[in-house]
Amino acid sequence: MRQFLPNTIIISPIGEIEDDILKAIEKGVKDAFGYPTEITPLIENVDFAYDAHRDQYHSTPILKRLSDTAPAHCLKILGIVDVDLFIPILTHVYGEAQLGGKASIISTYRLKKGILEPFRSEKYVCRLRKEAAHELGHTFNLKHCREQSCIMHYCRRIEDVDHKSERFCRYCKILLNDEIKRLRAKGIKPLPT
Ligand SMILES: [Zn+2]
Ligand SMILES: [Zn+2]
Repeated sequence: MRQFLPNTIIISPIGEIEDDILKAIEKGVKDAFGYPTEITPLIENVDFAYDAHRDQYHSTPILKRLSDTAPAHCLKILGIVDVDLFIPILTHVYGEAQLGGKASIISTYRLKKGILEPFRSEKYVCRLRKEAAHELGHTFNLKHCREQSCIMHYCRRIEDVDHKSERFCRYCKILLNDEIKRLRAKGIKPLPT
């Protein structure tokens, strides 16, 4: 029988996301947050979020659906899609998250810019890990950071994503640790490291 660890961050691929890419993202998430992780598809497709007028997918209802389907042992969710995401006020987003909530999502679609097929380069994987940690960071209550090298810096252009580091700045790290302490006080512990 499958073992479920409490307080797991679930990585939920939706659509065609390659296994080795998922594994690389999972490792990045584990390193960044210290909670147990697993790769489990929670929903089958995002057809319900399709906007025919824009020919894109609205990320906010996907977050709601992911959050609604979260199993009991799930602390946070990172959905990964290969379609182009938007929120109404922007032309596109690399991802979105519920601030201080459960669900986050990233899209591989625009992160493939300038990357050659079959999309396996370290540069591409690095972008995915950064966006994954960024969006999950929001679910741990982190807001956008002015420090350009910080992973919580808001990036509008892909060059900005490449420019920022894979780390939380000192300030965001403190805020993240405070949030993890707050969760721990509620019995929500990360893995011992
Ligand atoms: Zn953000
Ligand atoms: Zn920061």
